[in-house]
Amino acid sequence: MKKKAKRKGPKKAAKKGQKKYVKKIKKTAKNRTVQKSAKPAEYKTVFISLGSNVGDREEYIEQAITLLRETPGIKVIRRSSNFETQPQGRKNQPLFINAAVEISTNYSPQNLLELLQGFEDTLGRDRSLEWGPRTIDMDILLYSNELISEDNLTVPHPLMHERLFVLEPLKEIAPNVVHPILERTIKELYHDKKAEGMESEKYDEDLPGFREVKRGIADDYERW
Ligand code: ADP
Ligand code: MG
Repeated sequence: MKKKAKRKGPKKAAKKGQKKYVKKIKKTAKNRTVQKSAKPAEYKTVFISLGSNVGDREEYIEQAITLLRETPGIKVIRRSSNFETQPQGRKNQPLFINAAVEISTNYSPQNLLELLQGFEDTLGRDRSLEWGPRTIDMDILLYSNELISEDNLTVPHPLMHERLFVLEPLKEIAPNVVHPILERTIKELYHDKKAEGMESEKYDEDLPGFREVKRGIADDYERW
């Protein structure tokens, strides 16, 4: 009985902490002045995450990057490797391929979001199921150091620091970039998250079968 309660503890706490953080990030963003570009044509450094778990996943990632490359006003500076990861949120769906790209762009955040959603549509994205299978998902992780809190757009992406499948590819191309709210580098956020996983593994290791399951998941993050 006691063990069961103990096992649920950290997970519940993590969920609660996550909700609290999303609230905090929105509040902080609202309270700070959004830095408006001095000139509309100024180029900004932006990081985008890419994910696919339907059909030829690598091909969808390549096509998404090609669409970015071919867009005037966008320069693709670097891209990460592809990482194969477990689905989060809605578990019973195929494995994802995740990647991250750095671009330099004169698109405003809203125009960029609209452009990415257009690319998702072009590549056959079906939006009927929240967190469901998708040919391509393109999210804005960081837009320079800007803090954006609008109905349809939150930047930094409010869950980026919680997701190893985002942090791992991003760490490859931007290890020393600093999260403008958490004030930690991507490398640090990645190690924080990884250590959190290790902690819960240690915590639960006396439960039969738990380690094996955990190990399986951890290994999947290493494959690409
Ligand atoms: P998810 O990416 O969470 O799996 P969707 O791609 O369906 O889900 O996006 C849901 C909504 O998230 C979009 O309609 C978009 O307006 C909103 N959104 C808020 N912030 C961002 C962001 N930083 N990048 C991309 N979409 C965002
Ligand atoms: Mg998305």
